[in-house]
Amino acid sequence: MLSEFDVIARYFTRPPRQTGCVALGIGDDCALLSPAPGFQLAISTDMLVEGRHFFAGTDPGKLGHKSLAVNLSDLASMAARPIAFTLALALPDTNPGWLQAFSDGMLALAETYDCELIGGDTTKGPLNICITVFGELPPGQALQRDRAQTGDDIWVSGSLGDARLALAAMRGEIALASDALRCAAERLERPMPRVALGLALRGIARAAIDISDGLFGDLGHILERSNQGARLDVDALPIGPLLSRQPRDVRRAFALAGGDDYELCFTAAPAERAAVLAAAASAGIEVARVGTIDSQPGLRTVDADGAPLLMNAVSFDHFLST
Ligand code: ADP
Ligand code: MG
Repeated sequence: MLSEFDVIARYFTRPPRQTGCVALGIGDDCALLSPAPGFQLAISTDMLVEGRHFFAGTDPGKLGHKSLAVNLSDLASMAARPIAFTLALALPDTNPGWLQAFSDGMLALAETYDCELIGGDTTKGPLNICITVFGELPPGQALQRDRAQTGDDIWVSGSLGDARLALAAMRGEIALASDALRCAAERLERPMPRVALGLALRGIARAAIDISDGLFGDLGHILERSNQGARLDVDALPIGPLLSRQPRDVRRAFALAGGDDYELCFTAAPAERAAVLAAAASAGIEVARVGTIDSQPGLRTVDADGAPLLMNAVSFDHFLST
């Protein structure tokens, strides 16, 4: 049986990178970070609970990836560069195969973004994964939720709804061919945080949020914090390639209110359109212009003809839904 210290040493301790902002990593009572002089630290925590955020028995490699990806996505939406993270882990047992796959999945993504695991805590208990990420950014350049202004364009990266489609198929609500299910499940289980896009949008975008609970609700957070309203053209939404084969109402509902997309929704002045497109191209991701910020409170959805749609789509809320 592996002890807590065996687990930390074997699966979570890698040779220090000796570069970047980590002055002291795993092994002492605290880690030490030295952000670049004059930079701000961006800090975010996300917890993944078995049975709530992922199914029991989820592939451990994918789980390791996703646990870190959702945290990196928060840094992306602030335009912060990832530097390090901590991992608090409750495990029912110390299964070597599970731990190896989990840490491989997590640390491979960490390496991609040069984000070093610098500490954490390990305890026995129902499977629970809590990560805190640290990023850095120049003061004044964070894409805060409260920065949207009347007249701003609303943009969405990548595509929406395929993760929600996978969930529907896994729950048996919608039948998908096995190839389609595999691709959709990839979106649900292995999201790629839009870190490069967030960085490229520094000084161009104003407000941003990552879409974890559905565009409708997450854009709503920008509107509320910015004291603005918006008009959203549902026919301009970038529908996921697999979702696009579903009936119109399913397409609209999943693109608007499905969760787990981890795309960025951001606003920028119309004068920045060319700059937004250039930033997206440099980050290797498509972006779609889906609406406009205005001063009339609320979020109004219209179709391509401008006809209003009555949406009863609400965003996923952990305490309102079962
Ligand atoms: P303490 O008793 O000070 O809380 P621990 O014995 O819990 O320290 O942890 C020893 C070291 O291992 C610390 O540096 C801690 O940050 C690190 N650590 C513990 N669990 C993990 C983990 N799951 N991933 C990475 N580092 C961890
Ligand atoms: Mg501890």
